[in-house]
Amino acid sequence: METTDAAQLSPEEIQALEEKYLFATYKRSELFCLRGSGVYVYDLAGKRYLDMLAGISVNSLGYNHPRLVRVLVEQGQRLIHSSNLFYNPYQGLLAKRLAERSGMARVFFTNSGTEAIEAALKVARAYGHAQCGENKSVILTLKNSFHGRTFGALSITTQEKYQAPFRPLVPDVAIVEDFTVAGLEKAFSERVCALVIEPIQGEGGVVPLPADFMQAGRQLCDRYNALLIADEIQCGLGRTGKFFAFEHFGLKPDVLTLAKSLAAGYPLGAMLGSTRVAECLKPGDHGTTFGGGPLACRLALEVLDIIEQEGLIARVTEMGDYLIQGLREMASRHSIIGEIRGMGLMIGVEIGSAAKEVVARLLRKGFITNAAHDTVLRLLPPFLLSTSDIDEFLAALDEVLSEMALER
Ligand SMILES: *Cc1c(COP(=O)(O)O)cnc(C)c1O
Repeated sequence: METTDAAQLSPEEIQALEEKYLFATYKRSELFCLRGSGVYVYDLAGKRYLDMLAGISVNSLGYNHPRLVRVLVEQGQRLIHSSNLFYNPYQGLLAKRLAERSGMARVFFTNSGTEAIEAALKVARAYGHAQCGENKSVILTLKNSFHGRTFGALSITTQEKYQAPFRPLVPDVAIVEDFTVAGLEKAFSERVCALVIEPIQGEGGVVPLPADFMQAGRQLCDRYNALLIADEIQCGLGRTGKFFAFEHFGLKPDVLTLAKSLAAGYPLGAMLGSTRVAECLKPGDHGTTFGGGPLACRLALEVLDIIEQEGLIARVTEMGDYLIQGLREMASRHSIIGEIRGMGLMIGVEIGSAAKEVVARLLRKGFITNAAHDTVLRLLPPFLLSTSDIDEFLAALDEVLSEMALER
C-alpha cells in the first residue's frame, strides 16, 4: 500500500512498519495519536485522552491553538526555511523578546534541547580558556541530571543507563553528588569553567533544587569565575508559574537553555547568554542549518504573545495549586503516595515501583501521564487545563489507586 496518510493505517500496520524499519530506541505505549484539540488527544479509533503530559512539556498551549495554526499556514505559504546564510525578519525579533524577558544579552537558536546544551558547553569551554587558558575546562553537573542525548549533553547527563553504552564521554566533567552548600563547595576549584543545573530536575523525578544550594551555586560561580548554566528546557517558559524557574530563586544565570515549549510543538531551542558570555563566540565558532528558521521563530513569537495576552502564567499557578491540593487530599487516603513535589504545572508524585503500572492504567482510562525516574508520576499538563479537567484526572487516579490497593 502506497500512502502517507497515517489515518488509513491500522494500529497493527503502524506497529509492524516501526518494528521492521526503525532503530529500536523507543518503548512506545499503546496510544496511536491521530489528532489533538485543546487539552485532548484522540486516537485512531476516536477515543479521547486528557493530556496531563503535553508532549513532555512541549504542548503548553494544548493542541491546534487557533492562533498557532493561523501562523503556521500563513508563514508556511510565505517562507519555511532560508538558512543562516541570510536574514529572516523573525530571528532578531524573537531574540530581542527572549533577551528582554530573561535579562540575558544575546541568543543562539537551535532545533532541539540537546543542541542548546551543546552550544552552552562550547561557550563554557571558550569562556574558561579565554579567562585562564586550557586548564580551566571542568564542567560541574549534578547527580540525576538530564540534559540530552548528543555526546556533550550525554556527558553531563549523570544517569548510568544513558551513559554506560557510549563511553568514553567528553572529558573534564565532574559530578556534584550532594545537594548541599558544603557538597557544592567541595566540588569547586579554579579549574571549573561552568556549573550546569536544572532549577527543577525533570527526568530525574521532578526535584526542585534547594534554594540555599542554588544561591551557593551562584556565589561559587562568581568566586571561581565560572558560568552558571541554567537548563530550563523543561521547566522554563511559564511552566513553574514564573516565566523562568530561576526567578523563584532570586538569582540570574550566565547562560540559559530553552527548547521544548518554545515554539509549542514546532522544533526550536535557544541558548541565551550575558554580554561577557556572548563575547566568547566569534563569527564561525558555531552554527546550524535549521536553527532559528522563519517559521519556528514566528511561531515562538506568537507563543510569547499568547502567554502574555491570555494571562497564562497566573493560570499556571492557580491550576498548579488546585492540582497539588487535590493530590495532597488523595495522599491522606492512599498510603502508596509518597512525596508530592513541584512548582506550578510541573508536578511529581512519588509512588514507588508501581509508577509504571499506574501510568499504564491511567492511559487505559483515557489520561496521559508518564513515569519519571521509574518511581515518580510526572504531570506536565497544558497551561489551558481547567479545574474540571483536574477533577476528572484526580477521580481517575483515585480509581486506579483503589483498584491496585484491592489487588495487593
Ligand atoms: C528534554 C530535555 C533536554 C533535551 O532536549 P531534546 O530536545 O530532547 O534534545 C535537555 N534538558 C532538559 C532539562 C530536558 O528536559
